[in-house]
Amino acid sequence: MPELPEVETTRRGITPYIEGQTVKRVIIRQPRLRWPVPENLEQTLKGLRIQTVSRRAKYLLLATDAGTLLLHLGMSGSLRIISDGQTAGKHDHIDFIFADEIILRFNDPRRFGAVLWTTEPAEQHPLLKDLGPEPLQEDFSGDLLYDLSRNKKTPIKSFIMDSHIVVGVGNIYANEALFMAGIHPARQAGKISLTRYQKLAGCIQAILRQAIEQGGTTLRDFVNEAGKPGYFQQQLNVYGRVGLPCTRCQQILKEIRLSNRSTVFCSDCQR
Ligand code: ZN
Repeated sequence: MPELPEVETTRRGITPYIEGQTVKRVIIRQPRLRWPVPENLEQTLKGLRIQTVSRRAKYLLLATDAGTLLLHLGMSGSLRIISDGQTAGKHDHIDFIFADEIILRFNDPRRFGAVLWTTEPAEQHPLLKDLGPEPLQEDFSGDLLYDLSRNKKTPIKSFIMDSHIVVGVGNIYANEALFMAGIHPARQAGKISLTRYQKLAGCIQAILRQAIEQGGTTLRDFVNEAGKPGYFQQQLNVYGRVGLPCTRCQQILKEIRLSNRSTVFCSDCQR
């Protein structure tokens, strides 16, 4: 599933090709995504210029002076830049064709992705307005996590994966950040000290930055005709490594389920 780093990498991959470009035509082959693609989107977008390509949580926001296109990659979506004349495959649901014949192609085999249009300020959209801060921006900090967690009995891992608290900390990154910070994933959020939260916030940022940097090496895939944008595999210390030795102390890693998600940790290194 595309996580925040993949979405940010997608943003960086497509921006140089579509920012400042005018939409010439939109081809919708399959309007039934997670939510229906807005009717008349073809007419709505035609002739509009993409002013900026930004990201909020895992939504890509293509802003025009008439409104904003919201794109979400869901479970299996991807965006590619292709040149004219490439035949669409089975899961190539939407093409955004720009005046210079560059095409932004949305592919999504499982169709949990979304393509939506809003004429309100994007941050007011129902899907975006209640989201917590971006982990890589200044309003996110250990102090914030500490303040929001007081009296919370939620396991810390579920707490940091809650998008009302902070966005973009998916299962892999939660597992890895808690290992890096030395915090047991089932520990109650309300019982963790400010110092440990400050360390954890730094670890979340470090893990996400590392993933985004790694994504940078896949940027050329956005214009690769054969491939899909890379959903890159990071060097992982705990996620997917149950039963293997801890990379720090050699103890065998354990697995528990928290909020029904696989949670792998080292019972020596994480307290
Ligand atoms: Zn260990």
